[in-house]
Amino acid sequence: MSTVLIIGAGGVGSVTAHKCAMNADVFTKIHLASRTIGKPNTIKADIKRRWGVDITTHAVDADKAKEVAALIRKTKPAVVINVALPYQDLAIMDACLETGVHYIDTANYEPKDEAHFEYSWQWAYQSRFKKRGIMAVLGAGFDPGVTNAYCAYILKKYFDKVRFVDILDANAGSHDKGFATNFNPEINIREVTQEVKHFNKGKWVKTPAVMNEGSVHFSFNYPVAGPRESYLLFHEEMESLAKNLPGLERLRFWMTFGQNYLTHLRVMESIGISRIDPIDFKGQKIIPMEFLKALLPDPASLATKYTGKTVIGCIVTGVKDGKESTKYIYNVCDHAKCFKEVGSQAISYTAGVPPVIAAMMVLKGIWKGAGVFNVEQLDPEPFLNTLAKNGLPFKVVNYKPLPAKIGK
Ligand code: NDP
Repeated sequence: MSTVLIIGAGGVGSVTAHKCAMNADVFTKIHLASRTIGKPNTIKADIKRRWGVDITTHAVDADKAKEVAALIRKTKPAVVINVALPYQDLAIMDACLETGVHYIDTANYEPKDEAHFEYSWQWAYQSRFKKRGIMAVLGAGFDPGVTNAYCAYILKKYFDKVRFVDILDANAGSHDKGFATNFNPEINIREVTQEVKHFNKGKWVKTPAVMNEGSVHFSFNYPVAGPRESYLLFHEEMESLAKNLPGLERLRFWMTFGQNYLTHLRVMESIGISRIDPIDFKGQKIIPMEFLKALLPDPASLATKYTGKTVIGCIVTGVKDGKESTKYIYNVCDHAKCFKEVGSQAISYTAGVPPVIAAMMVLKGIWKGAGVFNVEQLDPEPFLNTLAKNGLPFKVVNYKPLPAKIGK
């Protein structure tokens, strides 16, 4: 008998709410809250229609810890799943601390006025969560999240130590829009336009952003999706994996981008429409990026016409009893199938299901402890096996390591 409070009712929050409803034996009472009540109410009606489950909806300003704490006191959840925006992470963590409730999210904190994310702000909560006897599970989406669990799983099952990891994320799907992001446009554009870093022999090596001259890329032959140009990108799970995988020598993250997408990013940057500092417009202060977000398609709206698949996984080279080998662990997810099941596209689906399974692990006491955890610090096996039964199976194959040097 467990009550869950989900905060955020966008593309990802919708999938999270549906999956909780599909596991009504675990989540006996479901509360869904967002900035305004409209989106939660639309999801509520769809959940009732598809699964016959009644959920309760609320409006909350999750930038305000006191408001979130009041909602927690009213709804009495055993766990809060934060699938709002990274800007709200600290306020929601503060509310969980105040009320003594477990916390799960899918994206690490970033300040609104600086396009920069890192775990330091959330890792700073370690002693307070420990003292309160509650768990915070950080970055429990797909990447970060499942990719962290994939690394931990390969280490647990096959190796004594891991030497090299390449995380590869392909969206081989297509929709009917000229340009659209697959999750919140503001967060997505901030992430993919930043300077790139990868980890090599204990150091972070910087390279140009994906759309700029000198960016590092190569064609990788993905299972099911085939060859796709994949670009070196800095992604948030790299920070915790570099810390938590002992002996790790090299860690890279690759994401596929089409030329059309990169051209749009270049134009946005050169005309300044992706700026995050306020500008004067007819006597009013506006932030160009917020204006751009209002113009771009809502990622959830892509679902109706999305076809094709996502392929996300990790190539891990490690050593067992002195012998080196390489495994490739990955998931394939189909946009149209996700739409049929829960009315969403595969990016929202792959991000929205894992925090539900993480919440199950915490509620059932399979993941336990007090403090702040990244996913690779928790047992990957029950998590990945339960995830597989809930729509996101994985496959492990023998593979060959990617070359140490890729690009110029
Ligand atoms: P959306 O923009 O579609 O949804 C965000 C939701 O949060 C909306 O319902 C929004 O309400 C709500 N919200 C925004 N501000 C507040 C606030 N102050 N108080 C309460 N609610 C608020 O984003 P997505 O669903 O695409 O993404 C959600 C999260 O998932 C993001 O943090 C994203 O980074 C993360 N993500 C993680 C992935 C992973 O694999 N780890 C992959 C993809 C996304 P409104 O629309 O009314 O403003």
